[in-house]
Amino acid sequence: MDVSLDRLRDDIEANAAFGATGDTARTNLTGSDANRDARDHLVERMEDAGLDVRVDAVGNIAGRWVPESADPDAPAVASGSHLDSVPNGGIFDGPLGVYGALEAVRALQGGDADLARPVEVVSFTEEEGASFAPGLLGSSVATGERDPETALAYEHDGRTLDDALDAIGYRGDGVLDASAWDAWVELHIEQGTRLESAGADVGVVTDITGITHCDAVVEGQADHAGATPMDARTDALAAASEFVLDVEDAATDAAAEDGTAVGTVGSLNVSPNATNVVPGRVELGVDIRDVKYDTMDDIVAAARDSLDRLEAERGVDTSLSRPFDVPPAPMADRVREAAADAVAENDLSSLALHSGAAHDTMHVARVTDAGLLFAPSEGGFSHSPREWTDWSDCRDAVLALAGTVERLAGR
Ligand SMILES: [Zn+2]
Repeated sequence: MDVSLDRLRDDIEANAAFGATGDTARTNLTGSDANRDARDHLVERMEDAGLDVRVDAVGNIAGRWVPESADPDAPAVASGSHLDSVPNGGIFDGPLGVYGALEAVRALQGGDADLARPVEVVSFTEEEGASFAPGLLGSSVATGERDPETALAYEHDGRTLDDALDAIGYRGDGVLDASAWDAWVELHIEQGTRLESAGADVGVVTDITGITHCDAVVEGQADHAGATPMDARTDALAAASEFVLDVEDAATDAAAEDGTAVGTVGSLNVSPNATNVVPGRVELGVDIRDVKYDTMDDIVAAARDSLDRLEAERGVDTSLSRPFDVPPAPMADRVREAAADAVAENDLSSLALHSGAAHDTMHVARVTDAGLLFAPSEGGFSHSPREWTDWSDCRDAVLALAGTVERLAGR
């Protein structure tokens, strides 16, 4: 297939100039002038390729191509990613997937593939959550997990998303319906070093990990650090310290079994947090991720057991809540198989791996067959100006993406 690295590179470099903060860095926040320029450029390039462009209520952009051989009413195969970035982020995180999908369409247009389905190129709004939290916003609306009114009411710098999109001309109508797609595939940079270490050209993701956040509270008794004897204390921080190590142990044991589990106590709020006072109360934030939901449950159960033990042994009061919980998203077998075939046909090497980071595909996988491909990240750097993927690796990844789309849209 005639994937053109020149076209792809021109697009990614042009996109990198919008909100550029250095040669390989950009700040492209949803609703900013740079964001408008990036969107304008994408729409222009989509129209250059003959795509029929629409913008939905939350600014998701979709460009539709109906091949001559295709049934225009057949559910489409869709591919894309996002154009927004974190502040001073890299130039590949998101744009590689958007412009990779567009290049895949252009390559298919130039070939003789017998396609049965329309193909859509998609750019989701506010993937990063850098301005209008909580992230993965556009895909959450397109998959029906969040209604557009809720999303449009999010605020940043005293402005709603509704107003921000309106100001840049991207407050469209209707809602993109991801459940209407026959299949979805996203190309993204790995943001890790597994492909580089393995010397593999393309990553074919097996699962995107689930994420649970737990809030733990350990309540002891605040006392004078000088006047309270050691055997008369209920030190909340000393107890909480054991909890931190118990969570680490539970996650380490789980990882030894399945190789993918991680658990982190990432935040601690100590009261009264004074050097001369025995700590009276500690609030802890726990982050647990795995590709197996049962294992995530097991680590949460181990955290509860730890708190029960500390109540019995140290006389503290404790509580644990689970305010945020997203189950793992396995990728569809038929999309992975299409990707494996495409990799083989292009004489590329691939590695099957899981994604520890969240992506829009996580949402899309709940409503249709979805897949995720990774391109190698040099040194694993991302969300930084050091983020880099060699152009030849970009081309190889887009070859794999184009072949995957060809198979999914074919007869
Ligand atoms: Zn991204």
